[in-house]
Amino acid sequence: MRAKEDGLTFDVVVIGGGTAGMTAAKIVARTGKRVVLLEADRTGGDCLYTGCVPSKSLLAVAKVMERIRCGDQFGINVNPPTLDLGRAVQRKDRIVEQIGEADSPAVLRRAGITVIQGRARFCDSDEVEVGGQVVHGERFVIATGSRPARPPILGLAEVDYLTNVEALDLRVVPSRLAVIGAGPTGLELGQAFARFGSAVTIIERTDRVLPSDDGETSAILAKALEDDGIRLFLRTAVDNIKQSDGYKYLLLRQEGEDPNTIEIDQVLVATGRQPEVDELGLDVAGVQTGEHGIVVDAGLRTTARHVWACGDVIGPPYSTHVAEDQARTVAKNVLGGKARWSGRAVPWSTFTDPEVAGVGMTEAAARVALGRRLEVLRLHYHDIDRAVTDGAGDGLVKVLLAPGWTRGRLGGEVVGAHVVGAGAAEIVQQFAFLMAWHLPAGMLAKTVQAYPTYGLGGRQAVGLHWQRAKESRARPSFIEKLRGKLG
Ligand SMILES: Cc1cc2nc3c(=O)[nH]c(=O)nc-3n(C[C@H](O)[C@H](O)[C@H](O)COP(=O)(O)OP(=O)(O)OC[C@H]3O[C@@H](n4cnc5c(N)ncnc54)[C@H](O)[C@@H]3O)c2cc1C
Repeated sequence: MRAKEDGLTFDVVVIGGGTAGMTAAKIVARTGKRVVLLEADRTGGDCLYTGCVPSKSLLAVAKVMERIRCGDQFGINVNPPTLDLGRAVQRKDRIVEQIGEADSPAVLRRAGITVIQGRARFCDSDEVEVGGQVVHGERFVIATGSRPARPPILGLAEVDYLTNVEALDLRVVPSRLAVIGAGPTGLELGQAFARFGSAVTIIERTDRVLPSDDGETSAILAKALEDDGIRLFLRTAVDNIKQSDGYKYLLLRQEGEDPNTIEIDQVLVATGRQPEVDELGLDVAGVQTGEHGIVVDAGLRTTARHVWACGDVIGPPYSTHVAEDQARTVAKNVLGGKARWSGRAVPWSTFTDPEVAGVGMTEAAARVALGRRLEVLRLHYHDIDRAVTDGAGDGLVKVLLAPGWTRGRLGGEVVGAHVVGAGAAEIVQQFAFLMAWHLPAGMLAKTVQAYPTYGLGGRQAVGLHWQRAKESRARPSFIEKLRGKLG
């Protein structure tokens, strides 16, 4: 009761000012409701400060270095480039500042949102305590994100290791860097540091890099990483880690091999994310958590009827566009709607060089779901003229088609698309669009696209369906062959 009388009272209380929290708060504020956004650190969250924006800024530097190194292929005489990492990090900081302007408390306040800085914690089912104040709310949105997971490796707690947070702020390139985990973060940063001059070793428990991606695209990426001089240890676990005289020693256990110790200068742990739920007092609010974070239903409502959750805090897929899309669903429902978040047709990307991107089912999953009805279309990058003129190297556009009612003239429905190569993330967007609106593949095949573009590669890949159909019509049928034999 104290809060209702003395404290701050709002229609909607949003906890966490990253992509998910800011998006939900902005949408709710537009309807004239009283909204407060509680942020422990800086509004903008992981994407702005320790995720997408800083990592892509540094990856751009790594890509430029590689292009310069390859100058000879283009007839340009170059000396090997050298990097001033301090200046590259300053550039990254300026980019973060520039992009972050739109997420500042001042901009949010102008949008009608009250912003309070402080770590929030439920002290009653409809009250949170933040920075010594009690805030009362009718409805709540939890969007507290995630932090790097710490794998149970013996000795890790005693070692000064890097996560994405520290790696993005290094001023000196480590001579020998081990990366534990071959997911998007480990591969992006691992490749960047390899190009900056580190001898990089990537260690992965499963049998391939990007284990959640399509096997074929992940194999092409693995080859490109090895061409960059990266040592890949697959099916390998790090049993323990020790530090002595400034060096680190990792004991590796690879399937079928004797244990092996490697000596390195620095280690980057990139083994996934852990939901930020520990100190929120969720039990007081009646909000339950599971293996991946806060448990939600299809409308992203938690086990407490007045509380919704969105973004990394509810588990994978971890990405900014997912956090934003979920926040839109949550905002509608907080305002009394009945929206559902399906997660269908959500693309994902890894911004290595070459990029890897996907949407929908992998081929392995589609084979299980569709069996012989699945049609797989593959277009290699040497057939995309833009990739050839750019000297973009190897790549693949792979499209998975299901028959559907539109089979034939319109070519069926895309159930998955996977691309590895330059511009992969952009190509995949076309397939995400088709899938999101259940449009037949023929719509893409019949859309005029500019020449020469990478996007055209998407259209060319789908066009293979009609090419095949034409070829099979041209082939003699069984009866025709039999007639031929009988004379
Ligand atoms: C290295 C890296 C690269 C990435 N690259 C990409 C990419 O290229 N593309 C992409 O789509 N995604 C990328 N991601 C993922 C993306 O950054 C996240 O999925 C996204 O930021 C999640 O948004 P969120 O709002 O759920 O959480 P966050 O952005 O983490 O926001 C949560 C906020 O809640 C605050 N908070 C936590 N606890 C409390 C509390 N008790 N009280 C008040 N505030 C609290 C935190 O301070 C934080 O600001 C990357 C991630 C990493 C780590």
